[in-house]
Amino acid sequence: MICNVSPGVRTRHRIALCLGLLACTAAQTASAADCPGHPDALGTSRTLVVDPKDHPRIGTMQYGETLPLADGEVVLTFDDGPLPRHSNQILQILASQCVKATFFLVGRQAQANPEGVRKVRDAGHTVATHSQNHPTNMHRLPIERARQEIDEGIASVSAALGDGSAPAPFFRFPGLARADGTEEYAASKGAQIWSADFPADDWRPVSSSRVYELAMQRLQAKGKGILLLHDIQARTVAALPKILHELKARGYRVVHVVPATSELAATPTEPQQWLLHPPSENVAISRWPKIPKFVFAETGMLPAPAVSDSYWNDDWPAPLDRAKAKGRAGAVPLRRQAPWPRKMPLPLQSAAIALPVPAQSVFVLRDRPQLAARAVALPSRRTQQAASARHGKAGVQQASTEAGASRRTVAGKPYPGGVRRATTSHTTSRATQHAAQPGRRSLKRLVQVKKGSV
Ligand SMILES: [Zn+2]
Repeated sequence: MICNVSPGVRTRHRIALCLGLLACTAAQTASAADCPGHPDALGTSRTLVVDPKDHPRIGTMQYGETLPLADGEVVLTFDDGPLPRHSNQILQILASQCVKATFFLVGRQAQANPEGVRKVRDAGHTVATHSQNHPTNMHRLPIERARQEIDEGIASVSAALGDGSAPAPFFRFPGLARADGTEEYAASKGAQIWSADFPADDWRPVSSSRVYELAMQRLQAKGKGILLLHDIQARTVAALPKILHELKARGYRVVHVVPATSELAATPTEPQQWLLHPPSENVAISRWPKIPKFVFAETGMLPAPAVSDSYWNDDWPAPLDRAKAKGRAGAVPLRRQAPWPRKMPLPLQSAAIALPVPAQSVFVLRDRPQLAARAVALPSRRTQQAASARHGKAGVQQASTEAGASRRTVAGKPYPGGVRRATTSHTTSRATQHAAQPGRRSLKRLVQVKKGSV
């Protein structure tokens, strides 16, 4: 229970909250009981008095703050009236439940139906304004036109009231189409900009049951807040009795909002109550001290930092580099080379690559002696195999080396790696070249090479 708190921790806030809740409960009981002819009426749980200057923008659909409501509290708002055919029904439904709401009236509608404005006032609801002509693009209007919309809307509703009184300094942008300049102008006139916490989409072509569902679903999701409705829609008239009935059934409470005046002080609140979901006492941020408003005692200029102050000063160039840079105006010394090893060129592969000696049987041609003669005219491995077989063991090692190399050298094609090995491949290529020349001379030359290398 929120009232059972340990003393000393934000005591003031908690006491205010507890008193508010107690007042709410008492007010709700009194309101429901005081609704003549409707003992089971929803009633209005309490009246919240707000000062627009302290909180000039409310409604979490667009702003950070909203009305300081407790969980389960709802504020009903109706836009775009008065339109007698539907607005009068809305007033009757609200009266049957003794519920008070806030009506954002359009100036042009008030001019056409001033009696409807007075009905809203006489029923005890709050009369607020919603521009003169309800432009859908008010955020794009020139600032002078936007100001005119605000001023004329207030003037039209004031004229409709007819008693010299003015509407409440609450203003809602048509279509919630806000703009910075217009907001500032409204605030300069002491108006509080009302957005909403959730709509029921009753301006869309949806059924009345859908309006009811959206209103209750969105209220349940947020737990409290400002509900945006329209008193000029038939579907809203149809949905409202069910909404009020369900609010009562689920234990929600309706709050009536009025502006503070010289005779009526604003309801005491804590700043965090104006947040839809203020941080709980268990969250550390709620216990942090408030940030003070800093006042700069001095406005002196700090000296520009030197290059040597930068973080890379640890790796400042060597004295030699500094000396080089000093000779060139505006030159920045190059960074000293890192101490780790440079990339070194790879050593050349040795020509004496030890390859495994192939078996002698590799060079033996069985039962096909005619191939030996033909091998003279063939390039590459066949030539070498035939030569090795004919000259016995002599030159086996060298021949095997060449044979191994020849395996890597496809006749007439480059080495698959793109670069031929320097010595081995070159030798093989030369041998292959000779071997590729048909004739006895080439064979003789090949044999000499093999013998000489043994
Ligand atoms: Zn509107």
